[in-house]
Amino acid sequence: MLGALALSVLLVVTVDQTYGHSTLAFAAAIALLLVANAPMLRFNCGRCGKNVFFRGPFVVPWPNRICTRCGHDLDTG
Ligand SMILES: [Zn+2]
Repeated sequence: MLGALALSVLLVVTVDQTYGHSTLAFAAAIALLLVANAPMLRFNCGRCGKNVFFRGPFVVPWPNRICTRCGHDLDTG
């Protein structure tokens, strides 16, 4: 995910310098981030189905080791 973010920023900067300011580059970068985030949103706890990237109201870029809802150890599946 952080790699995709860096790639998106790089894409915007590259297109910006090559073609001038472009909303198309921003649209492409946003689309890229959505594609990169899609698998993340499907990564849920095997027991209760809670998304492992959510910690209370916060979304973190790394998964929880232990489910915050049911305490299931996600390392062992
Ligand atoms: Zn759980």
